[in-house]
Amino acid sequence: MSVITLEPNTQSTATPLLGLSLAELTTWVQTQGQPAYRGKQLYQWIYQQGAKSLADITVFSKQWRETVKDTPIGRSTIHHRAVASDGTIKYLLKLHDGQIVEAVGIPTAKRLTVCVSSQVGCAMACTFCATGMGGFTRHLHPHEIIDQVLTVQEDFQERVSHVVFMGMGEPLANLANVVKAVTCLNQDIGISQRSITISTVGIPGKIYELAEHELQVTLAVSLHAPTQRLRTKLVPTAEHYPIEELLAECRDYVKITGRRLSVEYILLAGVNDNPKLAAELASQLRGFQSHVNLIPYNPIDDADFERPTPRDIKAFVDVLEHQHIAVSVRYSKGLGATAACGQLRANRKLGDRG
Ligand code: SAH
Repeated sequence: MSVITLEPNTQSTATPLLGLSLAELTTWVQTQGQPAYRGKQLYQWIYQQGAKSLADITVFSKQWRETVKDTPIGRSTIHHRAVASDGTIKYLLKLHDGQIVEAVGIPTAKRLTVCVSSQVGCAMACTFCATGMGGFTRHLHPHEIIDQVLTVQEDFQERVSHVVFMGMGEPLANLANVVKAVTCLNQDIGISQRSITISTVGIPGKIYELAEHELQVTLAVSLHAPTQRLRTKLVPTAEHYPIEELLAECRDYVKITGRRLSVEYILLAGVNDNPKLAAELASQLRGFQSHVNLIPYNPIDDADFERPTPRDIKAFVDVLEHQHIAVSVRYSKGLGATAACGQLRANRKLGDRG
């Protein structure tokens, strides 16, 4: 983790402590005139006890807590929480500047996955995605990403095993902060890098940049179409990034990291679900270690796409399997709480669907 400049203790603009490593927290307590072992205590209170403020840390003297009370830990507050019938919980989290961001907790028998946001809003404007329609507001800081995981972990009272960067925002547009957050989730919260997935629509050069960090995370690419022409219609930013170049970057990522590529493909009835396109997709992925996740479209307001019928979905899957492409159909969880893929938009009213 890179060195973070630590600011004086009594200003509310001070760097939040969440996201700092044990060494950095130790340095910080020492700059405050405290002995080094207080750094370890602080580390445990932040990452294990879930302290929300330095004032909560009762092992510190009252007097010192009073001195540093304005240094933020950097936790959000739960603004709203919506539980879907499948147990998925969507959280609207309020950040220090009043912005709202979404995180989703997805429990299954053996896992607790958190779907995290990397930005408030998104600039990519994908035609089928509610977040894209709301536009971009700002990047999230590392602590604002880490906080989402801690919040879900505390609320479920269960360890988070997996993290997917598939919430609001484009993680590779905020790469430095995402890498810092991943490092902390791994080293300080104990989540394996292999259980973390970064999903991107693709930004030229950024997949290489991610590879240079030598993380063992899974890369997921939101491809959605096997041809440049069709892809550009669905994903406007693809116009500046030919599909061949995107796939070449992905191929190199697989070579460099030895990790299998996840290919996300939203299924839109009559748009990209024709079996001929499945055959083209298979040929684009030849020679790749990849796994295709087909995501049947989840309805959002202001878009008139439709989900294909189960028969059409099966026909698409059959072509891929026939071509020996590993494929799963991912029916999103959380539909009833508008927490499913593509439905995240912070400014929408909760409970207006399902
Ligand atoms: N910007 C990144 C991270 C967001 S992930 C990316 O595009 O990969 C969002 C995932 O949800 C993407 O795979 C996207 O295709 C999918 N998605 C978006 N809108 C959807 C919708 N309405 N129904 C189903 N999946 C959707």
